[in-house]
Amino acid sequence: MDHPTLASMTTLRLGGPVANALRVPDPGDWAELVRTIADRQERAPLTLGHGSNVIASDAGHEGTVVAMNTRGITAERLDDTTVAVTVQAGHPLADLTGWAATEHLAGIECLAGIPGTVGAAPVQNAGAYGQQISDTLDRLTAWDWNAGRLRTLPARVCRLRHRDSRFKNAPGRWTVLTATFHLTRSPAAPLTYRPLADELGVDLGTRPPVAEVTAAVLANRHRRGLLLDPHGPDARQVGSVFLNPPVTAVEAARWSAAGCPVHTDSDGRLRAGADWLLEHVGYRPGCRIADGVHCSERRTLTLTAHDGATATAFVQALADLAARVGSTTGITLRPEPVLVGT
Ligand SMILES: Cc1cc2nc3c(=O)[nH]c(=O)nc-3n(C[C@H](O)[C@H](O)[C@H](O)COP(=O)(O)OP(=O)(O)OC[C@H]3O[C@@H](n4cnc5c(N)ncnc54)[C@H](O)[C@@H]3O)c2cc1C
Repeated sequence: MDHPTLASMTTLRLGGPVANALRVPDPGDWAELVRTIADRQERAPLTLGHGSNVIASDAGHEGTVVAMNTRGITAERLDDTTVAVTVQAGHPLADLTGWAATEHLAGIECLAGIPGTVGAAPVQNAGAYGQQISDTLDRLTAWDWNAGRLRTLPARVCRLRHRDSRFKNAPGRWTVLTATFHLTRSPAAPLTYRPLADELGVDLGTRPPVAEVTAAVLANRHRRGLLLDPHGPDARQVGSVFLNPPVTAVEAARWSAAGCPVHTDSDGRLRAGADWLLEHVGYRPGCRIADGVHCSERRTLTLTAHDGATATAFVQALADLAARVGSTTGITLRPEPVLVGT
């Protein structure tokens, strides 16, 4: 790549120069890439997929950035209903969910429309509409840069939690190379998310055909400004900038009475709606937060970058938003995207 920058590798289009950038289009290139990193006497490269969940430093990155572009899906029938689907890390997640809908394979239909690659999806246990990667992930293969070898990690050791995993907290240690999911040849998983059931005009717990749920998720995401449109006014974004914050039962009751949506994780943990909290303290879609940093046209919880934006200003904008919510409500907001670069 000529004069690569982190800006050219991320959806926010922010971030400074990169010393070396390597695209990995073919799984067979991996051994050579490992040798290249060793020859450069680097401990580990920075691994990126489509850069849709990172805020990249204005200073850029002094080492090598590896962009995973590997593609490919293989399927192995395990029994009458279960199919093991192994996917290369650089494969777009949206392409995988579209393929699964065509094949009538259930388990990832609610993840339709999430930007980015399959290899990055376990990093924050990507999820939406009541479904997450941990529901169907069976195992990963990943390069362990600490040990200098390929490892197979069963999902149970990946510490997949709400938008979190062992990978999100260990930058530079792992590069995910493949992910294997156990999908079922059946109707979609029972609907657990009210807005999706409403979109389909059915009750919670219903199991519509996979393709119908996939289409409904895409329609609902489109209406709510949750799809990445590279040519629209909200093109430069990373989706939600804050996690829905965990709250106690007492806090949940208090904020729920005030109108705040409260969600329950699969482990029973309660979370307040970060979008509602931002609006409660006065922010609105489209409002300016800092030079070149605005709330998106459709959604307060998505910040967008415009002319004049820098990563420093974007990070400061997050701190300002969190500070105002903290001082007004006592609730701490934590960023969802990852800070990367030097
Ligand atoms: C419009 C929009 C909507 C979104 N909606 C959702 C949503 O509904 N749910 C949700 O969970 N997320 C959502 N996101 C966030 C983002 O799309 C996901 O987190 C996605 O999984 C990131 O994929 P990526 O390839 O772009 O990862 P990147 O942004 O490139 O990387 C994210 C992190 O993963 C690491 N990483 C990337 N690839 C690998 C690899 N192969 N091995 C090891 N580490 C790696 C990076 O170093 C970085 O720490 C949304 C983003 C946008 C812009």
